[in-house]
Amino acid sequence: MDYLIRAINEDGTVKATAITAKDIVERARQIHKTLPVGTAALGRTLCAASMMGDALKEDDASLTVQIKGGGPLGTVTAVADNLGNVKGYLQNPAVDLPLNENGKLDVGRAVGSDGVLTVIKDLGLKQPFIGQVSLLSGEIADDIAVYYTESEQIGTACALGVLIDRDQSVKAAGGYILQAMPGADDSVISVLEKAVLDAGPVTKMLDGGMTPEEILNILLKNVGPYRILMKREAAYVCGCTQERVERALISMGQSELLSLINDQKQAEITCQFCDRVYRFSEDQLRLLLKNSKKQ
Ligand SMILES: [Zn+2]
Repeated sequence: MDYLIRAINEDGTVKATAITAKDIVERARQIHKTLPVGTAALGRTLCAASMMGDALKEDDASLTVQIKGGGPLGTVTAVADNLGNVKGYLQNPAVDLPLNENGKLDVGRAVGSDGVLTVIKDLGLKQPFIGQVSLLSGEIADDIAVYYTESEQIGTACALGVLIDRDQSVKAAGGYILQAMPGADDSVISVLEKAVLDAGPVTKMLDGGMTPEEILNILLKNVGPYRILMKREAAYVCGCTQERVERALISMGQSELLSLINDQKQAEITCQFCDRVYRFSEDQLRLLLKNSKKQ
């Protein structure tokens, strides 16, 4: 079972989140038929979005992480609700690249580093909150850390990992976000920096079967007593429905809808997040058009 936990130390200077997400990333791989480097890029983004979305307190809030790095994978998108549920897609899932010089999946090259990472927080207000930073490496975890540091002024360390098995399925996935809250003094930040170095790569921790609790136990051992605020199951959830797709068709506008009816006599809409196909006959489209005129 995939789950995430959230922890805070006693004086409130350090917040931490960790997730294990093997099933989430494997589900994404099966839906989008990604090859290993795409599985890793999308998987890391899904892990980050799930942890970031879960931090939103507002009911029905959602958070989107979108990475446009100019690399062969194209845009990577993940959307999370405030309960840890997440979904996502890649523009070019069939991209494959040779391993990098360290023998690792070359996520940085596949995503590209010439572009931006955008975070959109929809808190149910009139306008969503949008933050954007230039990409540092395209390796995603570094870029998430830069986002928090630059856009939200919260000193952050982030690590994300996806391990691929011999048959290209997901062997393990997960990660953590560690944050020194505003007001924390420099000694706290250096303790966290040292903890991240000492802990080593998160992929090793995940490969060893560590739980989120065990991961945070290692990272937070020198920040004083801490407590787990929350433990929550996380899953790949799409939530698309016939009704939502109808609303999307109507929102295209009447002239677009009419030309769809005249040109194609039908519509076949595939959900980007779960690949479910919604079919509309000419009669159904005409009914939608009629209803949209009433509104
Ligand atoms: Zn869907």
